[in-house]
Amino acid sequence: GGFQSMGLSYPVFKGIMKKGYKVPTPIQRKTIPAILRGRDVVAMARTGSGKTACFLIPMFERLKAPSQAGARALILSPTRELALQTLKFTKEVQGTWEQVGTMGAMGWFYILPMCFFLTLQLGKFTGLKTALILGGDKMEDQFAALHENPDIIIATPGRLVHVAVEMKLKLHTVEYVVFDEADRLFEMGFAEQLQEIIARLPDCHQTVLFSATLPKLLVEFARAGLTEPMLIRL
Ligand code: AMP
Repeated sequence: GGFQSMGLSYPVFKGIMKKGYKVPTPIQRKTIPAILRGRDVVAMARTGSGKTACFLIPMFERLKAPSQAGARALILSPTRELALQTLKFTKEVQGTWEQVGTMGAMGWFYILPMCFFLTLQLGKFTGLKTALILGGDKMEDQFAALHENPDIIIATPGRLVHVAVEMKLKLHTVEYVVFDEADRLFEMGFAEQLQEIIARLPDCHQTVLFSATLPKLLVEFARAGLTEPMLIRL
């Protein structure tokens, strides 16, 4: 199956096409449907496999639905570089306004009601706010970003804990959590910070974990913290 058989909404599908993705990579074919169904997932995938889209596409689908205020998705990255790459992807996929605008030329009669519907959908999708919380950046800017009620937080664990303590940030509205390059998160010594972050999450949330390797430590972490995780490897 391709992206069109995954049951994605039009704006998200358009976003992927705009990025030039024609067929899903093997890991995308396996993980996206499971994550869309709401499963907790542990996926063995390395950089270059297309793993970023694996967790961002279902995230976009989820964030389209309305909800109460507060950050709803949290993406934890081991490094600044990886976090910045993830941010870039969220911006690119969301930039789909113009494409829908040009459809108006096809005929107002059919297009207008459709545009109205798509605008409602797209408004939610393109208006998503992201706060980037990275070590090395100014804390003041990060406080400001979090005060603006972001929908998505992309963070490195050390700084997120620091900011959360300073701001009394609760993370109790987060419903979708990503551990990206989880093996590196542990290698870099973030175990304690990860536990502090998890302690601030609500009882009910979906977790997806991507890792190039699955050492025993990570398997135990997933067993303890995830709900009946589906293990996906190629
Ligand atoms: P990642 O493993 O997420 O870092 O992605 C590696 C590279 O593959 C990035 O440049 C992506 O934009 C690209 N990529 C991911 N999925 C696809 C796809 N389905 N088709 C073409 N390129 C892709």
